[in-house]
Amino acid sequence: MNTKVITAEYLSQAAQALRDGGTVVFPTETVYGLGADGLNDAAVGKIYEAKGRPGDNPLIIHIADKADVAQLVREIPPAAQLLMQRYWPGPLTLIFPKSERVGRVVTAGLDTVAVRMPSNRIARALIRESGVYVAAPSANLSGSPSPTTVEHVIDDLDGRVNFIIDGTGCEIGLESTVVDVSVTPPVLLRPGAVTLEELRELFPDIVTGRQEEENAPKCPGMKYTHYAPKAQVTVVYGPKGRRQEYIKECLKGEPNAGVLTYRGGRYEDAKLVIDAGESMQAYASGLFANLRNFDTHQIRVIYAEFEQAGGMGRAVQNRLYKAAGYRVINLYEK
Ligand code: AMP
Ligand code: MG
Repeated sequence: MNTKVITAEYLSQAAQALRDGGTVVFPTETVYGLGADGLNDAAVGKIYEAKGRPGDNPLIIHIADKADVAQLVREIPPAAQLLMQRYWPGPLTLIFPKSERVGRVVTAGLDTVAVRMPSNRIARALIRESGVYVAAPSANLSGSPSPTTVEHVIDDLDGRVNFIIDGTGCEIGLESTVVDVSVTPPVLLRPGAVTLEELRELFPDIVTGRQEEENAPKCPGMKYTHYAPKAQVTVVYGPKGRRQEYIKECLKGEPNAGVLTYRGGRYEDAKLVIDAGESMQAYASGLFANLRNFDTHQIRVIYAEFEQAGGMGRAVQNRLYKAAGYRVINLYEK
């Protein structure tokens, strides 16, 4: 397939492709999304194919106007009203009971549908101009880190999609928060930039699933290996001094190791050190690009510094642990 990389100036070509059942990659405020007409099973099938995504891993449908949610869902529970009012447009996905119009491919056979209204200008303009409800998971090959730059998208999907829109965005850097409002009280399925602390202000009894242990793919990110670079990642979780000491010890036997450092350390024995930043926002926005960067430098083993943190820290922790396949050294317990 010939993939056209375009700027937002030529957006109407991409909108036409969506109407015709094609695939379009576009920027959002979280990560790049790989979109197709969410109500067209054949078009949705192309998303799974392009990504190599397992068919039992449902997609999020993106809308440009709040009112459009009514077309996709059976009801809008009061909790959803409140969340839509406060956080849409923005990095929050809500799970609703699905309407008849929504097919079984996009929801992977579930009775519920995931809907989000992104704030990114290009994303909204594309959805609006196309006139379709745009199903879109992250625009990476299944299993690899989500793309936050157009280069990452091209690395993964050149030749596998019709259009890639080269635009600005992805300032958050991690996928949306996912909250299931089809049940009471609501359940936080995936942490993101809308934090648990913020959600608790509205719903003190919000449930946080024991995400790792769940088998049912209620939330795709839960079941499969995700966000993983080619290098093997080990998270070193602990107070600053102890984690740095631990990593320095590990580096002695590793000629091809990299360190993702947080507020941190100097590692003379590492082949590549990347600074994750000074805040959890910075850690989040750079995480996927940093993981890909280690691969570019043929690093085989990555030690990632991490520490206890609420707010955005929960989202970073969730993605980092998955990238590491839960290979975590917990130095708080020792
Ligand atoms: P991705 O877009 O690749 O980050 O993954 C899609 C996300 O959609 C998953 O992480 C889930 O949280 C979410 N999702 C989509 N449909 C559903 C659904 N019906 N129930 C629960 N979660 C869903
Ligand atoms: Mg994804």
